[in-house]
Amino acid sequence: MTAVETLVDLTRTPASMAARDVSAWFGSHKVLERVSIDIRSRDVTALIGPSGCGKSTFLRILNRMHELVPGSSLAGSIELDGEDIYRGKRTSTETRRQIGMVFQKPNPFPAMSIADNVLAGLKLCGLKVRRGDKADEIVESCLQRAGLWREVANRLDEAGGALSGGQQQRLCIARALAVQPRVLLMDEPCSALDPTSTRRIEETIAEISDEVTIVIVTHNMQQAQRVSHHCAFFLAAENEPGRIVEAGPTEAMFSTPSDPRTLDYVQGRFG
Ligand code: ADP
Ligand code: MG
Repeated sequence: MTAVETLVDLTRTPASMAARDVSAWFGSHKVLERVSIDIRSRDVTALIGPSGCGKSTFLRILNRMHELVPGSSLAGSIELDGEDIYRGKRTSTETRRQIGMVFQKPNPFPAMSIADNVLAGLKLCGLKVRRGDKADEIVESCLQRAGLWREVANRLDEAGGALSGGQQQRLCIARALAVQPRVLLMDEPCSALDPTSTRRIEETIAEISDEVTIVIVTHNMQQAQRVSHHCAFFLAAENEPGRIVEAGPTEAMFSTPSDPRTLDYVQGRFG
């Protein structure tokens, strides 16, 4: 079996995650206070809340990117299918492969071809992939799942940077899917996009959500309602670290939350 065939592992299933009492610091500045949440397998979980309350930091803690920031530290634990990602036997690289990330600003390799962009994650995992039958299959299937295939099927050798912003973001999703993550983290993936591109990404999220667990940060309350099954509301009081005020099924969070601050936020009264 070649390295690439090994990667096309259809038995790889979406994972659950759990955070237990996670606190985080940049230097001496505490930005998260005892955050606990259960992220269910195959669910789309939305993290909502005003700017600066630690949502992006929390997302980076979920796939061990936080520790790459000089001066950062954290307490508490994060589990992937019940196994602590910071203390278990998985390496940080393996953890990041299982828990992929898509960022706010689309970041394809601009000079690299569309096809090679899709395969780039595999190469970063240390796997040599040459364009050939198997690689072409991966490129096609990932672009299909990211909802981009029909638009780029005839231009796979063109540069990733030649695509529109919305297409670039879907290319980044295809690149993230290529390494077969079990969880996909998305940090405001649509905030730089027009409404049509946003819709396409939301459709993609709905389509891939039964093969990969998704955690999405969004400031768009309509989007949170459209795409997510569960929601967690983060808030930081003045000069205090961010906390989860409450979390629960999206429908309840938007109609009958237990904390009045949640209702105020989801109805747009602050933040
Ligand atoms: P959100 O995504 O909810 O807007 P962030 O996680 O980006 O919040 O930020 C939470 C807090 O951490 C903010 O006070 C922010 O200024 C601080 N912060 C974020 N990244 C860094 C960093 N690399 N170095 C120092 N402070 C940071
Ligand atoms: Mg953020």
